[in-house]
Amino acid sequence: MAFDYDLFVIGGGSGGVRAARIAASQYGARVALAEESRMGGTCVIRGCVPKKLMVFASGFPGAVAEAQDYGWDAQIGDFDWPAFRARLRTELDRLESVYRAGLDRAGVTVHDCRATVAGPHEVQLADGASVSARHILIATGGWPVVPEQWQGLGAMTSNEVFDMDRLPGSILIVGGGYIASEFACILNGLGVKTTQFYRGAQILRGFDEEARGMIAEQMCENGVDLRVGTDVKEITRAGTGYHVKSTTGHDAQYDAILFATGRSPNTTGLGLEALGIELKPNGAIPVDAYSQTAIPSIFAVGDVTDRANLTPVAIREGHAFADTIFGGKPTAFDHSLIPTAVFTQPEFGTVGLSEEDARAQGPVDVYAAAFRPMRTAFIDRSERVLMKLIVCKRSDKVLGCHIVADHSGELIQLAGVAMSMGATKADFDRTLAVHPTMAEELVTMRTATRSHDG
Ligand code: FAD
Ligand code: NDP
Repeated sequence: MAFDYDLFVIGGGSGGVRAARIAASQYGARVALAEESRMGGTCVIRGCVPKKLMVFASGFPGAVAEAQDYGWDAQIGDFDWPAFRARLRTELDRLESVYRAGLDRAGVTVHDCRATVAGPHEVQLADGASVSARHILIATGGWPVVPEQWQGLGAMTSNEVFDMDRLPGSILIVGGGYIASEFACILNGLGVKTTQFYRGAQILRGFDEEARGMIAEQMCENGVDLRVGTDVKEITRAGTGYHVKSTTGHDAQYDAILFATGRSPNTTGLGLEALGIELKPNGAIPVDAYSQTAIPSIFAVGDVTDRANLTPVAIREGHAFADTIFGGKPTAFDHSLIPTAVFTQPEFGTVGLSEEDARAQGPVDVYAAAFRPMRTAFIDRSERVLMKLIVCKRSDKVLGCHIVADHSGELIQLAGVAMSMGATKADFDRTLAVHPTMAEELVTMRTATRSHDG
């Protein structure tokens, strides 16, 4: 049977764009892609990129305060949100056009509309066209979820936060994951009176406990009113803002509310169930190691599969799909060692197992150094950093590396290289320190802080 295309990709985000580009430009496939919103997807338009630029913006008041203590006659002044937002929009427009140009150069046909799956080889476009393809790749990402009882109140999610007309005087952020914790730090840094409610005992569930504790403590010291073990009980509109009662009896008024209570895969109305693909309870598409669904011609990558919801993961999954199907190189992306950073203040870089997960798997030694770094100790700040290694007692292999410190996202990238090469503690010890740095602790810790026998 002759198909219109070798590949039809639904979704022009991190995973879809990479798969489309590699299939077309490296392997000569005839590729089409549909994007219903803006090219680049969550990461570029309403995720990593605008978020990181806001992280940069939010760091300046702290930097100026430090500069004063270092002897500078420096003043910060006011933050001009509309000016920042205008520059942000220009930058996102530029990045979107870079993505479009990349697809264009690769020879990918782009449809700027919604697409659904009408059959194992058939895609229905919202503009009325029906297209056939030998393979269909679903890369439709995810969407923020607001708990049902709080919908319709006009509270923000991360989708709206970049488009605010003005910065609120005060905000309540609900959630304790990546997005809630990052935006609590960003908005606090930008001068917004920030309260964060997290229903559990400590934010950033699933990460190393010692690191989570240190981040939460310093967020509070930096001015975030972080309330753990606390959830929203009642919200009422009060003028242009909100009156909120918490489950712990806390009662306050906020100019804005941001729900960062998770994201769910974009599969509603895609047509998959009708084809016999049974979705997971949260709507995610079940796939095998090669991102293949229960229908052999249909594949899915990125957040829509809810494996690890990070841009580099979506990109690798998309690339592996193209290598497997069009490059004749069966490639299963290995999800076992994923370096990641949470861009809180302080920043958190982490790769591998937490102390808690590692000790549940076998005997481990823990090397941890929490100390005041040179830069801020000099000006008598209480800020501390954490450098932590989890080492397997049997193999000496480094199983986890956790860093709470400025720029730890940059540091963890390189620790990730060493660990994916199978580095042992002896390899770290053999490596010469770079002095004076914070990260030299990673190669100078000689005595285990704790030992767990598994
Ligand atoms: P997406 O990038 O979401 O792309 C999916 C695309 O499909 C979208 O453009 C959507 O419009 C389109 N689409 C959906 N349905 C259809 C349809 N039926 N037809 C046509 N088009 C459709 N990750 C990191 O690694 N680092 C970070 O710092 C980071 N920060 C983040 C900050 C925020 C606020 C958020 C929300 C996410 C962040 N992430 C970060 C996660 C990262 O953005 C995602 O993991 C990544 O974008 C997933 O890529 P994807 O290709 O799976 O989906
Ligand atoms: P997460 O799943 O990380 O966190 C959701 C948070 O909301 C959790 O603390 C959860 O609590 C809480 N929550 C869920 N439902 C409710 C509810 N009904 N009421 C109150 N609290 C609730 O999702 P995010 O939205 O923060 O981020 C989505 C994903 O995007 C991340 O997991 C990550 O993969 C990616 N991302 C990556 C970033 C990075 O790489 N730096 C930055 C931002 C996002 P509980 O823990 O109790 O379940």
